[in-house]
Amino acid sequence: MSNPQFNQQLFSTPYPKKDAYGALQIPLYHSVAFEFDTAEAMELAFLCKTADHTYSRISNPTVQFFEDRIAAITGAASVTALSSGMAAISNAIMALAYSGSNIVTSRHLFGNTYSLFASTLKDFGVSIRFCDLTDVADVERNIDKNTCAVFLEIITNPQLEVADLQALAALTSRTGVPLIADTTVVPFCAFSAKKLGVNIEIVSSTKYISGGATSLGGLIIDYGNFDWSKSPKINLLREAQPSAFTFKIKREIHRNLGAYMNPQTAYMQTLGLDTLDLRFQKAASACLYLATALSSAKGIETVNYTGLPGNKFYNLSTAQFGKYPGAMFTFDLPSRKACFEFMNRLKFIKRATNLFDNKTLAIHPESTIYGTFSPADKEKMNVSPKTIRLSVGLEEADRLLEDIRQALQ
Ligand SMILES: *Cc1c(COP(=O)(O)O)cnc(C)c1O
Repeated sequence: MSNPQFNQQLFSTPYPKKDAYGALQIPLYHSVAFEFDTAEAMELAFLCKTADHTYSRISNPTVQFFEDRIAAITGAASVTALSSGMAAISNAIMALAYSGSNIVTSRHLFGNTYSLFASTLKDFGVSIRFCDLTDVADVERNIDKNTCAVFLEIITNPQLEVADLQALAALTSRTGVPLIADTTVVPFCAFSAKKLGVNIEIVSSTKYISGGATSLGGLIIDYGNFDWSKSPKINLLREAQPSAFTFKIKREIHRNLGAYMNPQTAYMQTLGLDTLDLRFQKAASACLYLATALSSAKGIETVNYTGLPGNKFYNLSTAQFGKYPGAMFTFDLPSRKACFEFMNRLKFIKRATNLFDNKTLAIHPESTIYGTFSPADKEKMNVSPKTIRLSVGLEEADRLLEDIRQALQ
C-alpha cells in the first residue's frame, strides 16, 4: 500500500540544527569528535542529558539526520543506523539475547543471518528454534520463558514465503516476546511494519535505500510498542519503558560493538531516500511485468513472485504489502546446468549478488549465497539448485525481457 504521505514526511523532516549557510543538503560532518565550550557542558553531553554529539562512534549530526528521516517516514519512536544490515541484526539480537535464551525463527533466512544464528550465537549459549512461521500454532509451541525474540523476514529469499504478521504480532504480544522483522525486501514507501504490529524492524539500507548500491548500511527501528517489563533481559531497564530497548541499544550495545554508520554513508543514503518511492514504483512495476510475462515463457518451469495472482501467498502478500511485494522474483529452470547456461548467456543483465541496485542483477543462489552450506542444510532451507533470482532495476522492462528470452534459448 503506497503511503501518500511518504514524500511529504520525508522532505519536511527538519535538520537537527539550522545550518550556518542555509545549505539545502545536510552537511557531511566527517569529524570524529566535537568541541565543548565548558567542562560542565561536556559532562552533560557525556551523561546524555543534552543532545550534543561527543564522538562519531556513538552519534553524528549527518547520521542523526538520516535516522530522523527514517523515523519521520516510519512513525518510529527511535532509529539507530549501523554499518550494514548484518550489523543491525547482530546489534538488535545482542541487546536481547543471553546465555540460555532462545530465538524462535525459520530456516528460511538470509544466508548470513542463518549463519549468525546457527553458528556464531550458538557459541554464546543462545539456541535457535527453527519452526514454520506460516503456522502460528507451531510458533506458539516453540515459545517459552527464555524466548528473547521471534525473528522473521517478511518475504523470505529465495523461497518467497510470507508469514501473517498480524497473527504473529497477536501471539508475540500475548506471550510477551518482541517480534523482530527484517523488512529489507519491501521498502517503507510500500507498507508499514508498525501498522502490522512489528516491534523492531530491521532493514539492510544497502538495498533500496542506498540509491544504486553506493554503500552498506543497516537500520534498527524501534516502534516503542512493546512492554519490555516482560523481556527477561531488558526488564532490568524498567525505568526506561517503553524505550528500554533503544536505551539498551544506544547507551550500551552499539557503542560497545562499534558498528555505527559512518557519516559519508549516511549522506549518500539520505540522498537515496529522496528518490526511494520513485525508484521503487518503476522497478517493482517492471518486476510484476516480467514475472507475469515469464509465467508463460517456454523453458521456465515456475515463476515465484507473491504479487502474481496464482501465487500461494498472493492474498496475504497483497493485504500486507500491496500490489508490488518487492522488486525481486525467482524462477526455476529444468536443471542446475540450465541455470548456469542461462546465467552465462545474459548480455545486459548483470551476474551479481545484491538486491535492489538500479541495475538488474541475476544470481543462482544455491551455488553462491548458499554455496558453503551442506546439501542437507540446503534441502532443509528449500534452496533449490534449479532457481534463478532476479533483482529488477530501472532499465526498460522490455529490454530486460528480451535479454531473459534470448538467454533461455
Ligand atoms: C542483504 C540482506 C541482509 C544483510 O544486509 P547487509 O547490508 O549486506 O549486511 C539482511 N537481510 C536481508 C533480507 C538482506 O537482503
